[in-house]
Amino acid sequence: MDDVLELERRVAELNKILHEYGHAYYDLDAPIVPDSEYDAKMQELLAIEEEHPDLIYPDSPTQRVGGTPLEVFSKVVHRYPMLSLANAFNEADLRDFDRRVQEAAGSVVYVCELKIDGLAVSLQYENGQLVQGSTRGDGAVGEDITANLRTIRSVPLRLQQPLTIEVRGEAYMPKRSFAKLNEDRDEAGEVPFANPRNAAAGSLRQLDPKIAASRNLATFIYAVGGDAEAYNLDSHSDALDKLDQLGLTTNEERKRCATIDEVLDYVAYWTEHRQALDYEIDGIVIKVDNFEAQEQLGYTAKSPRWAIAYKFPAEEVRTKLIDIELSV
Ligand code: NAD
Repeated sequence: MDDVLELERRVAELNKILHEYGHAYYDLDAPIVPDSEYDAKMQELLAIEEEHPDLIYPDSPTQRVGGTPLEVFSKVVHRYPMLSLANAFNEADLRDFDRRVQEAAGSVVYVCELKIDGLAVSLQYENGQLVQGSTRGDGAVGEDITANLRTIRSVPLRLQQPLTIEVRGEAYMPKRSFAKLNEDRDEAGEVPFANPRNAAAGSLRQLDPKIAASRNLATFIYAVGGDAEAYNLDSHSDALDKLDQLGLTTNEERKRCATIDEVLDYVAYWTEHRQALDYEIDGIVIKVDNFEAQEQLGYTAKSPRWAIAYKFPAEEVRTKLIDIELSV
């Protein structure tokens, strides 16, 4: 009995703490703890909830995506929800993911991509013209930040083809822009931003588009929002090629992998080489390539079952990438 009460108390405590951390991170763009601490508490809560589904609060942070859209922006209702991704932290988690995928969909090809550390955005084009840009918000409703997204050079105002299409990707601040911004803020006696992710989110969630324009932001687009098959696309790699043809900027470092061992090699490579990139990444996203297989796998309330985000270990504990490094 005491154990049950103790567990209930811990669950309530984790819910409360994670809501506080999430509010600071998603709503205020000013995290109060490192991501690793947030992730550890989230994993603890997920583990308890898995053993005791009766302890899942309806508003548990494990069931919710992102934060609350800011009132100062008009709201954008996403036609298809903008979800989160389940996380993996080591080789065993990735092998588990592969096993679950194969059980549900047979053998598949994966696409590995860099997990860009920025914020998710959606761009709506009508007859090839950019008409709206929004944040993910709580997954169902985002903020209308069209004016700010229009200032980003890698966001085309007009596509190469007159298509009506929603695309999704990550807006981010390159390391160089971030260093310059903090130098300027330092000189002006302003508080520097904690990291490029918060600087990017803070820049895009401003009412004055001149601020976003001055911050040298960039985007990588990584998906067609909604029904990609409507554009005769059979797979995620097809979709990425299509996005390239439309004049959108995709990330070139993606790789198709036929086995989980190839995925692990890709993870190990980027764990070693990520510092050389001009932008920050916080992990690797692994996606099932074929859309039919994706459909077979489906979704949880919060994330697709056909994808997973491997998160790099926190910098301070990054001695060796555990057993993954041994597999290269
Ligand atoms: P997530 O960051 O784990 O994964 C989902 C997001 O990945 C997508 O929404 C998209 O924006 C992004 N992404 C980047 N590259 C991508 C690609 N190539 N393909 C697809 N998606 C890509 O999930 P989340 O819900 O956005 O955020 C949770 C994470 O945020 C936590 O794991 C934690 O690290 C961090 N966080 C930190 C705090 C804190 O207090 N420090 C609080 C809340 C969340």
